[in-house]
Amino acid sequence: MSVSTHTATPVAPKTGTPEAIPLVRPTVEPDSTLLSRMDDVLRSGMLTNGAWVKRFEEAAAAYLGVRNVVAVSNCTAGLMLVLRSVGRAREVVLPSFTFMATGHVAHWNAQNVLFADSDPHTWTIDPADCAGRTSTADAVVGMHTFGTPCDVNALERSAGARQVPVILDAAHGFGSRYPDGAMVGTKGLAEVFSLSPTKPLSAGEGGLVTTDDDNLAQELRIGRDYGNPGDYDARFAGLNARMPELSALVGLSALERFPHWLERRMSLVQRYRDNLADLPGLTFQQVPEGARSSYKDLGVQVDPDTFGLDRTALARLLSAEGISSRSYFDPPLHRQTAYRGDFAPPALPVTDRLAARMITLPLYSHMPEDDVDRVCDAVRRAHVDGSPHAV
Ligand SMILES: *Cc1c(COP(=O)(O)O)cnc(C)c1O
Repeated sequence: MSVSTHTATPVAPKTGTPEAIPLVRPTVEPDSTLLSRMDDVLRSGMLTNGAWVKRFEEAAAAYLGVRNVVAVSNCTAGLMLVLRSVGRAREVVLPSFTFMATGHVAHWNAQNVLFADSDPHTWTIDPADCAGRTSTADAVVGMHTFGTPCDVNALERSAGARQVPVILDAAHGFGSRYPDGAMVGTKGLAEVFSLSPTKPLSAGEGGLVTTDDDNLAQELRIGRDYGNPGDYDARFAGLNARMPELSALVGLSALERFPHWLERRMSLVQRYRDNLADLPGLTFQQVPEGARSSYKDLGVQVDPDTFGLDRTALARLLSAEGISSRSYFDPPLHRQTAYRGDFAPPALPVTDRLAARMITLPLYSHMPEDDVDRVCDAVRRAHVDGSPHAV
C-alpha cells in the first residue's frame, strides 16, 4: 500500500474514467502553522530530543486522560519496551487474528508465544479462550481490532489472582472508547498506539505508549534511548526508539484536528452501513454497547452462501473497478511461516473463519462521500451479478 502523504484537500472533480479509490490515506494537513514549525525545527538543528516531542506527549496525554505518554519511533518498538519491562517472559498469550507485529514483539521477549481465539462478534481476543489455554502465562497482549476495544476487564479477570500484566496493542485504537466511557489508552499496564500512515492518527511513523505507572514511564524514557539515563551507564539493553521532532510536529498537528476528522470518519462508516444494510451475507463488526471504535478499518465478513460469492471474488470485482481492498488478517499469525514452527497449528476456529471471510473496504478520514457510494454500488453489483440466483 502506498504510504505517500495525501493532503485533506478535496479531490478534483472526476472526468472520464473514475479515479482509483485507495484503501487508506493519512489525513495530514500541511497548513502554514505546521510548515512554519517545521521550518523552525530545521533551522534550529534540534532534530531529536527537542521540545516538540514533549509538547506532543503532553497534548496526547490531555486528549486521552492518562498520566504518562511516552512517544516512540513506532508501535512495535513501544510494545517491545513495555513487554521487556515485565521481565524475561516464559509465555505470552495474544490473539492470532492480528497484525504480525503483535506476535513479533512477544517473540522477541518470550520463549513461548501462545495464540488465543477471537470473539465471533467483536473479532477481538476472547478472554475465556485465553484463560482456557494457559494458567502459566507471564503476560497477555490484547489488541483493539480495527479500533473496537477488546475486553480488558475480562482479560484481567481471566489472569486471576496471579496479577498477570495485560498489555494493549492499541495500534488501531486512537480515538476509541471503552464501554465505560474511558478512552482507549487508559487501561492495562500500558497501551501502545501506532502513528504509521494507515492508522487513524498519523505522524508519518511513530508510536505513543500510555501508562498511569510513573516508574514504567520513566523506564520507557530510558529504554527508548538505549537504556541510557544520560550518564552513559546503560541500566538495561534498550533500543533506539526515539521519535524525531519532525514526526512529533506532524503528529501534533494531526492531533489538533483529530476530533473533527474522527467525527467525519464515523459518519462515513455510518454511510457504508446504511448503504449496505439490506445486502444479505455481509456482517459488520460488533462494537460493545457504550464503546466507540476509531474504525481504523471498515471490515466486513462475507458469507459466500448468502452473499453469492466469496470475499476473494468480491475483491477481484472491486479491483476491476479501481477499488482497493484488503483481506486482513489472512493468514492469521498461527498460520504464518514465522509461527508455524514444528507443531501443528492450534485449533482457532473463529480466527480461521474470520480470516477466510474478511474484506476491508476503503476508509480514511477525508475520503469523499461519493467514493463511499461508489464502493457500495460496486459491492451491490457484485452481489447481484455474482449471485448464483442471478440470470
Ligand atoms: C500497524 C500495527 C502495528 C505496528 O505499528 P508500527 O507503528 O508500524 O510499528 C502493531 N500492531 C498492529 C495491530 C498494527 O496494525
